[in-house]
Amino acid sequence: MLDINSFTVLNNGVKMPWLGFGTYKIEYEESSVDYIKTALKVGYRHLDTAAVYGNEPIVGKAVKESGIPRNEIFITSKVWNNKHGYDKTLKAFEDTLKRLDTDYLDLYLIHWPKTLNKETWKALEKLYKDGRVRAIGVSNFKVHHLEEILEDCEIVPMVNQVEYHPQFPQTEVHEFCKKNKIQLESWGPLMQGKIFDIPLMKELSLKYGKTISQIALRWDLQMGVVTIPKSINENRIKENCDLYDFEISKEDMKKIESLNTGVRIGHDPDTITF
Ligand code: NAD
Repeated sequence: MLDINSFTVLNNGVKMPWLGFGTYKIEYEESSVDYIKTALKVGYRHLDTAAVYGNEPIVGKAVKESGIPRNEIFITSKVWNNKHGYDKTLKAFEDTLKRLDTDYLDLYLIHWPKTLNKETWKALEKLYKDGRVRAIGVSNFKVHHLEEILEDCEIVPMVNQVEYHPQFPQTEVHEFCKKNKIQLESWGPLMQGKIFDIPLMKELSLKYGKTISQIALRWDLQMGVVTIPKSINENRIKENCDLYDFEISKEDMKKIESLNTGVRIGHDPDTITF
C-alpha cells in the first residue's frame, strides 16, 4: 500500500485502485464537474458513480476534460433497482455508457439485491463475456444473496460493495467474500459524516497526528477493503488520499474493530422498499 495508485488484483486479474472517489449526492449541475476534476487533479484514478445518482454525465465530462487517458481511470457504475431482469439490465448498461460518454466500464454492479438477481447477473455475465465491462460485481449483498448467485453462476462476482465502517464491518460478509475471492469495497467509509463523533477515533487521530478521516480510511486499506470516500471540498479531497505515510498498529486496528455495534447507518438490503 504505497500510494494512491496502489491497487488490488481482482479474481479475473483486473487491477482496481484501493482508493476511489465517491460521487453520491454530487448533483447534476455544471459546477459539479469541478469536484470530480479536482479529485482527478490530486491523483484519484477511480470514480464511483451509479445510474440513480443522476451524475453519470458529470463524471463522463470530468474524465474528458481532465485530459487523462480513459484507460488510466477506473470507472464503476451500477444498475438501479427498477432495471433488474436480463433485457432491462442490458439496456440500462447501454444508457449508462451513453451518459458517461465512454465505450466500456471498468466495473458494473447490481446496486441492491432484488428478486430478479439471477436474471440480472446473467446480463452482467453477457456484458463481461462480450468485453463491454472489465469486471462485474454486486452491491449490498448479504451472504445469502451471494450464495444465490454462486449456486449456478458462470462467473463469480469480482466485487461486493457494501456499507462498511468501524461501527458496521460486516465480518460475516467479509469472511465469505475472502473465502470466495470477492473483493470487498466500502461505501460510507466515514459513516456519511458520523464517524467524527466517535471518541476512540478522536484519540487515535491525536496519537497518529492524522485526521479522523485518514484513520478511518487507512483502517479500511489495512483491512483489505477498497474504499471510496466522498467530499466536494478540495482540502478534504486531498486529505482523504493522504494515507500512505503512516501505519495503524495491530493493537489499534483491534481497538477500532471493537467499535462494531452491528448497527447500520443505511438500509437493510433484506427490507428495502425502493
Ligand atoms: P462517506 O462515508 O464517504 O461520507 C461522506 C460525508 O463525509 C460527506 O458529508 C462529506 O462532506 C464528509 N467528509 C468527507 N471527507 C471528510 C473529511 N476529510 N473531513 C470531514 N468530513 C468529510 O459517505 P458516502 O458518500 O455515502 O459513501 C461514499 C461513496 O460510496 C458514495 O459517494 C458513493 O459513491 C458510494 N455509495 C454506495 C452505496 C451503495 O448502495 N452501493 C451507498 C452509499 C454510497
